[in-house]
Amino acid sequence: MFSFTGRGAETRLSWGGVPFAETDCVACGACVQICPSGAITDRDRERAAPIPEAREVQTTCGYCGVGCQLTVRVGADDRVRWIDGAPGAVNRAHVCVKGRYAHAFSRHPERLTTPLIRRGGVLEPASWEEAIRYVAEGFLRMPGQVAALSSSRCTNEENYLLQKWMRAGLSTNNVDCCARVCHAPTAAGMRRVFGTGAATNPLEDIERADCLLVVGSNSTDAHLVTGARIRQQALRGASLIVIDPRRTDLAAIADVHLQLRPGTNVPLLNSLAHAVVRLGLVSSAFVAARTEGYADYASFLNDFSPETTEPITGVPARLVWSAAQLYAGAARPMQTHGLGVTEHMQGSEAVMLLCNLALLAGAVGREGAGVNPLRGQNNVQGAADMGCQPDLLTGYADPRDPAVRARFKAVWGRPPPMKQGMTIPEMYAAARAGSLRGLFILGEDVVQTDPASHVDGALEALELVVVQELFLTETAKRAHVVLPGAGFLEKDGTFTNGERRVQRVRKAMEPLAGAEGAPGAREDWRVLCALMEATGLPQHFQHPSEIMEEIARVNPAFAGVSYDRLGQDGLQWPVPAADHPGTPRLHTGSFPIGRAQFAEIPFMPSPSLAGPGRHPGYPLTLITGRVLEHYNCGSMTRRSESALLAPVDALEIHPADAAQLGLTGGSPVTVGSPWGAAHATAEITDRVAPGTVFLTFHWPKTGTNNLISPVLDRLAGCPEYKVTPVRVQPEPV
Ligand code: SF4
Repeated sequence: MFSFTGRGAETRLSWGGVPFAETDCVACGACVQICPSGAITDRDRERAAPIPEAREVQTTCGYCGVGCQLTVRVGADDRVRWIDGAPGAVNRAHVCVKGRYAHAFSRHPERLTTPLIRRGGVLEPASWEEAIRYVAEGFLRMPGQVAALSSSRCTNEENYLLQKWMRAGLSTNNVDCCARVCHAPTAAGMRRVFGTGAATNPLEDIERADCLLVVGSNSTDAHLVTGARIRQQALRGASLIVIDPRRTDLAAIADVHLQLRPGTNVPLLNSLAHAVVRLGLVSSAFVAARTEGYADYASFLNDFSPETTEPITGVPARLVWSAAQLYAGAARPMQTHGLGVTEHMQGSEAVMLLCNLALLAGAVGREGAGVNPLRGQNNVQGAADMGCQPDLLTGYADPRDPAVRARFKAVWGRPPPMKQGMTIPEMYAAARAGSLRGLFILGEDVVQTDPASHVDGALEALELVVVQELFLTETAKRAHVVLPGAGFLEKDGTFTNGERRVQRVRKAMEPLAGAEGAPGAREDWRVLCALMEATGLPQHFQHPSEIMEEIARVNPAFAGVSYDRLGQDGLQWPVPAADHPGTPRLHTGSFPIGRAQFAEIPFMPSPSLAGPGRHPGYPLTLITGRVLEHYNCGSMTRRSESALLAPVDALEIHPADAAQLGLTGGSPVTVGSPWGAAHATAEITDRVAPGTVFLTFHWPKTGTNNLISPVLDRLAGCPEYKVTPVRVQPEPV
């Protein structure tokens, strides 16, 4: 119930007598946007009142992979006045607290507006010309020994340019993106079973599904607008199954919550498939017409009855049988999954098992069904589509294929290199070994987001680390050259969301100019063009739309994409021709590999899993993840009002474990693992099961990723963020 706390000018709206920030309100601001009388307002509107509006721009949110459309109102002072949700196909005017309110970063006083070059151990101001020359000369001195990490916060056009620079300019396939630390296992797993490593269905199919299976995704935090859609469909009567070690908000309203032990996705998913087969719920016609390997797969599943896997997963067998009945018994079962599936030693393989389930249920290639990974960062799908991965070019083309090589040579003037490039973990290892000398990092704070056990020692070993960023992040602090880039509100381009929808990013304001003669930030595509020219690969693009024209020439799935056609709702690739409407659903008639292939995946327990004699002294299992208010490394949300709502990284710990350790809510704690230590604030909650703790990684001082092991996904090289043996100790207050 709404009420008020405080007195006079300190009066605040509250819900149930506690401060608003401590309530269940997700602060999406929808009430403010639709209030017909203006009685409900927010601080953005109050602050903007005296400033005349200069323009209104529709663009795409730069935070998560949902890809919400925003209406950005910009004042005469070239600052955001306020942001509303725009009525796009993805969000229908709904947005979350980040999309609406986390924009102060764009004009934050800590924004970089001057290039920096390290001299005598200190980062000193430089002109753009000097910095570009310094980087170009440095990389040209290291033929074959440079690499680049692209940015999911940058546009498709910028990601395309970065990999083109590496391949055509510096003759190396050493380019990778942050999918390596999130959904590369999704792409690998789905490609193996279906032939394409991307979401099969549009998000609007959530409203057509009569059963939703949400696996390893705290969707109402990490992808709020999609999470709200799932919740609404469940409230409308669709059955909801959640597989998650935590009792997330969706798990709390689910028909069945399979609260498995961290690290046991593979036996649990195998047991679900076993139950589907034994219950006679296999879609025989679909399996016969569209798949291969069913007979062997069904016999492989014999060993995975829910009763057999219960002691491993901790999930009661009866719940697995119920979930199987709900999922495969539904007319339109749809899956979504998140990093709780992928960030494991068997992440790619767990994704294959999700695909297997969809095949068994005949839930691919039709409305209200499918397998939809919820992509984390806003343009991680686009970064991979553009070719920011070491083994595949733009459009997932094989650089060893003669026809592909000819196509790229015709556009680039040079063929792509043949030699396979390095993944991010391989880059770190090569840096430490001395075989990689230079690294260009576009808009990623790897020191904070990647495991310290991977990064430590690698950046220090490199001769030239260049970081193009908005702020002096933890990674930028270690760089030799820092180039001030532009945020998503300051540039034109496109992002591709998690359902393959290519959407326009429209410039709402100019890149931040420097004060007192500083050269100012620049759009990242312009910086990349300057670097390409300085290293002997001149570009002639005057606008990102021209870069998209080139992308359409090298990538057949984008052949029909142009800025003129993207309009308000964009297009879902593949768009093979200028008159093609885009492809909301994949695999409707066939798979790119002909028939889908069932994958038989035995369980290989991670060395990080708890067990007799393993990791003595580390009795708890840590899961890491995000909260609603923050985005990944937090460099943008920490410099916005999100910081008021979530000012620390909180360690969720069960009341029983907390009591044993003598912890109270808000206690400072040290979390230790065999690989490092972190410092957080205890939050006592039964969202986590006894023996499991959960910690976010948004604040650098926490050091969450110091704890993570060197274990990688067996196929895609993704770190195992979701299973770490730890101990928790109270810190002296
Ligand atoms: Fe939408 Fe994601 Fe942006 Fe929130 S962060 S507004 S859910 S795109």
